[in-house]
Amino acid sequence: MALRNIVKEGDPILLKKSRVVDKFDRRLATLLDDMAETMYANEGLGLAAVQVGVLKRAFVADTGDGLKEFVNPEIIDTQGQQNELEGCLSLPGRSGTTQRPETVKIKAQDRHGKWHIFKAQGLKARCYCHENDHLDGILFTERIVNTVPDLKEE
Ligand code: ZN
Repeated sequence: MALRNIVKEGDPILLKKSRVVDKFDRRLATLLDDMAETMYANEGLGLAAVQVGVLKRAFVADTGDGLKEFVNPEIIDTQGQQNELEGCLSLPGRSGTTQRPETVKIKAQDRHGKWHIFKAQGLKARCYCHENDHLDGILFTERIVNTVPDLKEE
């Protein structure tokens, strides 16, 4: 395993759409291992492949109950709504309140190509949506909602 550099805001790769993974080989396994190591070293809850400069539809996440890997993820159901504070390892020092579904159902392949269905709520749902957005070149700053009333002077 090896630490990889995290791509930071301003790099145009972050705005690109990642490609479907069609080879479930050693190279993919190494990428996923490196992504996990890089995520933990930077104390992130999730990390998408594009954030280490690889345009593949894959992300890793650990919201406190162990490492999970998502290859070719697809959100198949969403319910409710939550507005919570969010940040991103690619946008250090920035945060904002985003609007996300409260629960999501997501299907994804593992490193061997087997499909799984995950159900997530709250923080976990937010994390999965955030990482899934990265695969379509969408940053959390596009999801920010203004929850603070305007304090304009009359
Ligand atoms: Zn992010």
